[in-house]
Amino acid sequence: MTRSFLNGLVALWLLACGTAFGAPAPALQLDSPQIGSTVGRHLAYLEDPDGTLALDDVRSRRDSFRPSEQEVPNFSFTKSVYWFHLRVENRHAPTSRWLLEAQYPLLDKVRFYALRDGVTLMSSEAGRLFPFHQRPLRHRNLVYPLDLPAGQALELYWRVETDSSLQLPLVLWTPEALTLKDRDEQLAFGFYYGLLAAMLLFNALVYLSMRDISYLHYVQYISGFAVFLLSLNGLASEYLWPDWPRWGQAVISFSMLLAWAGAANFARSFLNLAKHLPVMDRFTWWYARGATVLALVSLFMPYSVMIRLTTVNGFVMSITMSAIGFVCMNRGVKQARFFMLAWATLLLGLALYPLKTINLLPNVFITEYSMQIGSALEALLLSFALAHRMKLLEQQNRRIQAEATSQLEQRVQQRTQELDEALRHLSDANNELQKLNVLDGLTGVKNRKYFDEQLHLQLKVAGRSGLPLSLLLIDIDHFKAVNDRHGHLAGDACLRAVARAIGESLLRPGDQVARYGGEEFAVLLPQTDAEGAQHLGERIRSAIEQLTVTHEGCLVPLTASIGVAIVAEPDETGEQLIAAADTALYAAKHHGRNQVRIAGTQPPPAAS
Ligand code: GH3
Ligand code: MG
Ligand code: MG
Repeated sequence: MTRSFLNGLVALWLLACGTAFGAPAPALQLDSPQIGSTVGRHLAYLEDPDGTLALDDVRSRRDSFRPSEQEVPNFSFTKSVYWFHLRVENRHAPTSRWLLEAQYPLLDKVRFYALRDGVTLMSSEAGRLFPFHQRPLRHRNLVYPLDLPAGQALELYWRVETDSSLQLPLVLWTPEALTLKDRDEQLAFGFYYGLLAAMLLFNALVYLSMRDISYLHYVQYISGFAVFLLSLNGLASEYLWPDWPRWGQAVISFSMLLAWAGAANFARSFLNLAKHLPVMDRFTWWYARGATVLALVSLFMPYSVMIRLTTVNGFVMSITMSAIGFVCMNRGVKQARFFMLAWATLLLGLALYPLKTINLLPNVFITEYSMQIGSALEALLLSFALAHRMKLLEQQNRRIQAEATSQLEQRVQQRTQELDEALRHLSDANNELQKLNVLDGLTGVKNRKYFDEQLHLQLKVAGRSGLPLSLLLIDIDHFKAVNDRHGHLAGDACLRAVARAIGESLLRPGDQVARYGGEEFAVLLPQTDAEGAQHLGERIRSAIEQLTVTHEGCLVPLTASIGVAIVAEPDETGEQLIAAADTALYAAKHHGRNQVRIAGTQPPPAAS
């Protein structure tokens, strides 16, 4: 009631100004120069706020129609129904078939009437909320064929009711001209969607082989975006779901929100936000879930609400994505460079289109298709960014591997060194042990065990070579008495002195001395005959005799008896040799001690 009153007031005011109703829109003359141009300035419109008017009502109110002063009459989002009127006249054009294309595929319900002399020649009801086949012509846009021979005129009426923004960009064509335009357009669409499809398929396959979740998010984003644009272009209603008009309307917000959920997830995993930008990691996580839920809810929400939300969301998110990319790039995240470039390209594409719409930029190919070009470049750049990231990851892997290998090598080297050192220690210890094993602990000369081995060995050598081998058994005289008189410690000191004296008397490198028993020593003299052995025995005896071992200031006199045995036969055993030397020693003891006695010989008369 109030509303119609206000409308009345406005109408009165406009009447007073004489602008709106005074000058009716001029009729459209069908003529070749008009081909391909918008006919908005020939249109007149009438708002029907309640949507109750019928064709007859509006025809009777022809005077209430206002001329459109724009090329494209645009009433934005409105609940009102708008009626449009256009008078077309063919004065003398030879062509009789003309087409009017409404270049806005999102109009929900468009009723069309063509009248001549008050008689309805043609009518149709079509649009996004009707099955596709109801259209007057099979085309992604609503296209109205007009048969108008020269000298005739038609009155055209459109009743438009829509949840999308209400606009009627009518363009005049001849069938040939429209076909030519469509050819170019279809090629561009084919190229654009072909590119998106290739990117989609490629990255889906890469995901299947690599199982890197970033690829899946990319696929979600690009496929959502592709469905959104297919719907905006009217191609989805024509090719994807011609018989599901409601879905065709709802899918716009649905696909776009899912695309943004994919984009947010993509940013999260691609840039590893958890590591580089934890705040945005949480934001994108929540955003992706929120957008997915909203996408489902949008199926049941009014289109007019959802489309506004989706549009605002698109702008905010493409700025957010570029910002995330920018911050990550500044923080040295290498893969952020192409990511940011991709989103900035889309943002530029999105920004150019409205600038063209408000005439700040010329209407050329790049501005007209800026959204498509921007998004195609974005899809390419993001796909490239994925490949580039793979390269970066591989480089990183290789570096880590190289580091690990060199660390391992270092550690192996270190361990080897440690092991070598341990082995050296062990070998030293072993040598020491071996030495100790063959040495006599008290005197430091070789021990009995070693002597036995050497005797065995030297006997074999002598047996094979035929060279003589002599054995000296040396027994200190009256040593028991030394011990008794001076004590065992003094006795030990004497033993050491005797051992040293014997050692010093041996001059050839092959000669060997060993402690044979308590105070008995054995000397092996390879390649030494009886004469030599006698001579050496004398030298030893004399050296012992000349020892001046003292104990508590007293000189301890020491002498020794020496029994000598020489290998007489090639197969003589060690026992036999020792027994012979022992017998000689016994003889030496027996004959007065402090003398050298050779086995099997009589003592020289002078010596006894
Ligand atoms: P003989 O002239 O007949 O050889 O008289 P002897 O007293 O030397 O007799 P014998 O050869 O039987 O002496 C063995 C003595 O040597 C027994 C022990 O008192 C002494 N003896 C043996 N081994 C050691 C030792 O390692 N240290 C000391 N201090 N004395 C030893
Ligand atoms: Mg003895
Ligand atoms: Mg003795």
